[in-house]
Amino acid sequence: MTSSTQRFSVGLTGGIGSGKTTVANLLGELGAALVDTDAIAHQLTAPGGLAIAAIAQQFGAEFIDARGAMDRARMRNHVFGNPLARHRLEAILHPLIGSETISAAERADGHYLVFVVPLLVESGNWVGRTSRILVVDCDEEIQVARVMARNGLARHEVEAIMAAQASRAARLAVADDVVENNGSAAQLIPHVQALHASYLALARQAAIQL
Ligand code: ADP
Repeated sequence: MTSSTQRFSVGLTGGIGSGKTTVANLLGELGAALVDTDAIAHQLTAPGGLAIAAIAQQFGAEFIDARGAMDRARMRNHVFGNPLARHRLEAILHPLIGSETISAAERADGHYLVFVVPLLVESGNWVGRTSRILVVDCDEEIQVARVMARNGLARHEVEAIMAAQASRAARLAVADDVVENNGSAAQLIPHVQALHASYLALARQAAIQL
């Protein structure tokens, strides 16, 4: 098998509720290998996760709950307005997210790789590391409505999350490909199928050039 750095890969991003997971799952059903960086980050602080020992050592055992997971509410309170603590936590998590993402990509089996990275633009180190960047885009009003329905949040809570994320324009500025998701789920399918066909062709070309 070729290494993840050589295989054709797509970095998939979009604002909260834009439809990243929906598009990723459709690509996965068509044969792409998915690597979900949010799930990887979550596993690191779940019971028995790779970051637990370092968190207990650096922050104290009181940050680990009875199940052996990081106490998220306690950590959120602790790092809120405390940039030093936030940096210490990130210094534990970011290298582990990086190494676990690489090993997940090496294990992943599919026609090409799709890295699902909600904060791709914000994290700054993804651009240039995948063959293409795919942005799922939709009108902000639709985004708000979808997240209110999915997460049971109030409008102002969704708007606060969106305000903390990169702007729509900043995401579109790094996009090689854009899937517009303003219509129905059924309308999304032919767009994703066309995209998949173009990625398959590019993946074959990349494999020939190796
Ligand atoms: P993200 O992963 O970007 O947060 P999701 O794919 O989870 O977004 O989509 C957000 C919510 O909107 C989910 O509940 C999903 O089922 C729904 N959704 C996504 N695309 C559409 C669509 N085109 N029509 C209707 N609902 C959609």
